[in-house]
Amino acid sequence: MSDDHRNPPPPVIDAARVVSYAFVDDIPYCQSGSLFTDEAMVAQVPRLAIAVGLGAQPGPLVFYCDEEWISLAIADAETVEQAKQAIERNYPGVSERWIDTHVTLEEALAYYDSETAGLRCSFCGKRPFEVEGIIESPTATICRNCVEEFYGDFQTDGGDELGN
Ligand SMILES: [Zn+2]
Repeated sequence: MSDDHRNPPPPVIDAARVVSYAFVDDIPYCQSGSLFTDEAMVAQVPRLAIAVGLGAQPGPLVFYCDEEWISLAIADAETVEQAKQAIERNYPGVSERWIDTHVTLEEALAYYDSETAGLRCSFCGKRPFEVEGIIESPTATICRNCVEEFYGDFQTDGGDELGN
């Protein structure tokens, strides 16, 4: 059982570039006053990643992940250092374990494009993370912004069907 099958995270999780990560499956979760939102008050998770959004989200994000680096909860932080200090209270000793990925923005975007098959709005060229929603059809892909620009006079009541 000594083999280490733990895989590093992908360069991008949920449209955010991973800058640092840690394996915490053997650190007992310590309930403590958290700087984070209720959403992030998950108990034990085996993986943690600190990532910077590719889009317009401010500041770094903390992803609480399962073994496959699927995010179970997300919190935001002022800085990477502040995130690490806050996480240390919940996972004592994690400060020794952070591994920096050195993933560049170019690498992250290349990974993102491969994961989304290069999906972009046919009209403005934006990627899905840069727009609120994007619609694919056999002939064209259009984002919510362009729909509203083209059909701005119509207050569509089927807005939720535009995708997320
Ligand atoms: Zn567009």
